[in-house]
Amino acid sequence: MAIVGAGPAGYFAAQALQNLQSDDLAFSIDIIERLPTPWGLVRSGVAPDHPKIKTVAKVFEKVATAGNVRLFANVELGRDISIEDLKSAYDAVVIATGSSLGKKLGIPGEELAGSMSAATFVPWYNAHPDFKDEQVDLSTTTAVVIGAGNVAMDVARMLALEPSELDPTDTADHAIDAFKSSAVRTVIISARRGAEHAAFTSPELRELPKLEHTNVIIEKRDIDEAVARAGENIEKDVKSNLDAMSLIADQVPAGHERTMKFQFMATPKEIRGSDKVEEIVFTKTGSDEEFSIKCGLVITAIGYEAAPLEGIPYERGKVVNTDGRVTENLYVVGWAKRGPSGVIGTNKSDAADVMKLLLEDLKEPKPVTDIANALSGVEVITQGHWEAINAAEVAAGEAKGKPRVKSVARDELLKLAKL
Ligand SMILES: Cc1cc2nc3c(=O)[nH]c(=O)nc-3n(C[C@H](O)[C@H](O)[C@H](O)COP(=O)(O)OP(=O)(O)OC[C@H]3O[C@@H](n4cnc5c(N)ncnc54)[C@H](O)[C@@H]3O)c2cc1C
Repeated sequence: MAIVGAGPAGYFAAQALQNLQSDDLAFSIDIIERLPTPWGLVRSGVAPDHPKIKTVAKVFEKVATAGNVRLFANVELGRDISIEDLKSAYDAVVIATGSSLGKKLGIPGEELAGSMSAATFVPWYNAHPDFKDEQVDLSTTTAVVIGAGNVAMDVARMLALEPSELDPTDTADHAIDAFKSSAVRTVIISARRGAEHAAFTSPELRELPKLEHTNVIIEKRDIDEAVARAGENIEKDVKSNLDAMSLIADQVPAGHERTMKFQFMATPKEIRGSDKVEEIVFTKTGSDEEFSIKCGLVITAIGYEAAPLEGIPYERGKVVNTDGRVTENLYVVGWAKRGPSGVIGTNKSDAADVMKLLLEDLKEPKPVTDIANALSGVEVITQGHWEAINAAEVAAGEAKGKPRVKSVARDELLKLAKL
């Protein structure tokens, strides 16, 4: 089996295949990953101040070292190997490449300097090699984050935190330096619809009042109106969210220097500025009433789309599939299949369901072709190399009281791999 993408969906697919093995059936699994490091968004997405969530990586490492899995990292499908090569070398190919492109608002001014997507900002602070040279200008006092999901909340929190709180985390060193000299003191997180429609999850909301150096402000009126609109037959999750927001709204702001403020019912209309962002204009959703906020940074966190890969059918930001089946001996799991929804665990049940279908479809095994031969010119990072990188990063972190110090540049990572 070939699994393309070493993120949660890729590892959970490998785990599901391991669980489907029996006395009569054994799988050999090759995981192909474009970066020199595995773990997908667990390394480059999940917020660095949420280290517990990243402990799921222990599960990935258990899968990786169970004996029937090989890692081919630093190998990109579409660059180093084609989908046709994979389809002819393996009994089945599973696409688990996630969705990495940020959706756009499609409003004037979105291309101005100072306007960027969470799909750029998040991997920049999480030490993703492709984003290390991004220019993130934090010289403004006010930033606006557009979106009403957990990614928007992560972005707003990272901007509004007292940056010394990031010292014991694995945030990229370049980002910690930038946050320490940041002028941002007010972060507005802006939702198009009312609080009853917000896609935040309540555990994340309930954590916000624990921020020690940041005022978190939600207007009580916004929540009261949302409760009234939601009515009596309110869904459990929505109620739990509104309860969490209500608790925040009841708090007296503590007078900190930094503030994170929620805004609802605001539709972005235009970003203005002569050569960089100076203000963002909104309409009050459902009316023509306009208002604007002076700011120097706008970050959009309104969803992701899959980056298309040659030879794989795409539609509306996802791989075209029926329950994970794409074409003969080609399957898809995770965000590339479903789009950007659910938590890390959602990928586990999803991948298990697809691997059951794969097993049903399985024909006589093909004669073995080892793709290692086709990758002779590529500096492949194997599981052993990755373990060397991992150990070096963790050791560098120990000295500084961090879980790890991430290396950012590809050549640095390859050096740590001792290739
Ligand atoms: C900012 C952010 C924060 C999040 N925080 C949380 C959280 O706190 N808790 C939670 O439960 N969930 C969180 N999530 C959701 C979680 O990260 C996803 O559910 C999960 O990562 C999706 O898994 P995936 O394997 O489909 O995609 P990914 O994690 O994106 O993995 C895809 C992998 O495929 C690789 N790849 C892509 N293209 C190629 C190619 N051509 N060739 C080879 N490899 C390729 C990528 O490099 C990547 O490693 C967060 C998501 C984001 C964006």
